[in-house]
Amino acid sequence: MLRRLFGGPVRRNVRARPLVRFFVRHCRIPLLILAVAAILEVYIHTRRFAVRQPEHELDEPFYTQCQEPAVEKPRENAALVMLARNSELAKALKTVQSIEKHFNGWFHYPIVFLNDEPWSPAFMEVMNASVSGEARFEVIPKEEWTFPAWMDANEAKEAIAKQGRDGILYGGLETYHHMCRFYSGKFYTLKALQQYKWYWRIEPDVDFHCSITYDPFVEMAKHDKLYGFTISLPEEPRTCPSLFREIADWKEEHNIPTTELWKATVTASWVPWPFRSWMSHFRHRDKAGDGWSLCHYWSNFEIANMDFFRDRKYQDLYEHLDKTRGFYEERWGDAAVHSLALAMLLNSEQVHHFEDFGYRHDWFFQCPANAPGGQLLESKALGNNPFNKEREGGIGCRCECDGRQTRNYASYCLNKLKQPNTTKRLGMIGWFRTWFK
Ligand code: GDP
Ligand code: MN
Repeated sequence: MLRRLFGGPVRRNVRARPLVRFFVRHCRIPLLILAVAAILEVYIHTRRFAVRQPEHELDEPFYTQCQEPAVEKPRENAALVMLARNSELAKALKTVQSIEKHFNGWFHYPIVFLNDEPWSPAFMEVMNASVSGEARFEVIPKEEWTFPAWMDANEAKEAIAKQGRDGILYGGLETYHHMCRFYSGKFYTLKALQQYKWYWRIEPDVDFHCSITYDPFVEMAKHDKLYGFTISLPEEPRTCPSLFREIADWKEEHNIPTTELWKATVTASWVPWPFRSWMSHFRHRDKAGDGWSLCHYWSNFEIANMDFFRDRKYQDLYEHLDKTRGFYEERWGDAAVHSLALAMLLNSEQVHHFEDFGYRHDWFFQCPANAPGGQLLESKALGNNPFNKEREGGIGCRCECDGRQTRNYASYCLNKLKQPNTTKRLGMIGWFRTWFK
């Protein structure tokens, strides 16, 4: 049929129906023109989402080798924050020991421990003995760790049970829904954190592999950064079928201009007008039919300025999202909520990738190679613990992990989200290869 329509030999002895014959005779050229127009239209459409390439790097590591920790310099108004359960004592301790060894032993920032239940004496005792700064133990007010008052709790519980039956990741766990909602909104307005401007979020069972010999809060402030991350990856699609649509609609209603970071986060549709808008009936699509790549920053590590999240714009967005019930009727994660909000509201250069940090949580990790000649061997403060080999191009400081693995797993997302900030673009083949790293 295609050969016929587009000029292939027409076999006379075929009993083509009159309508088809009419089309072949009269519509060949118009159809060809339509096809070319559609291809052109799709090309123009996808170009609108092409991320502008900067003239120079907009987000480089703050340092690319060990520094003598500037312990006498002023600190920022900041805290390390860990949400945990009493039962996670061993894993929480592991994290605290790792961050004290690799960073806080020099800088002594306070660690605020948050829990939805009263802290056990054992937890407090162990942590008090392990921190080098102040340890604070806070309990989240009940009303900030439950269903909103205007929501029918039984309906919410039924929706949660259904997500459990459907096998959605953590979907059947009521507390997990509360946790994601808390971290998406009320975390930032929590009384216990009001005194701080900056936070560094940590979690039980994470490893820091490299020495962090400078103060990331000070550097973030100095370089006008608002949000820092280590790992980016695709969201589990079944946890948040309507999240992107809600945020994209909100963006449109509030006339928020499209940032380069937003372009980097979405994937333009290849379906031509006018059929493109039909795509909006599918999940993770906006009204126009363009999609979300599902790429986001993993929020178990975050260093950020609270002011961004406390600001009216973000809090209004959070309140709006909350009202749509997606935190319970679906299982929206705080990482996806944060990332889409950042993509919508920030300039890309306000986001920093801590690519010099060695970090692991679950089976995702980032490990920079050690910087050749940059290990400050004579430093008394840095001591003489063993560390991995230095490698050409390395930017790490005394990393205790294999620096040949320099990218996050699923670095598709890392490269995609970093596009607005870098001149180093991976071509198709480069992208393909990152999947196997
Ligand atoms: P994952 O990283 O997405 O697999 O989720 P986690 O189970 O690690 O939870 C994320 C964070 O929330 C961790 O810091 C947990 O300690 C914390 N968390 C999760 N659920 C609860 C809860 O019910 N109570 C408390 N206090 N913390 C929780
Ligand atoms: Mn976790």
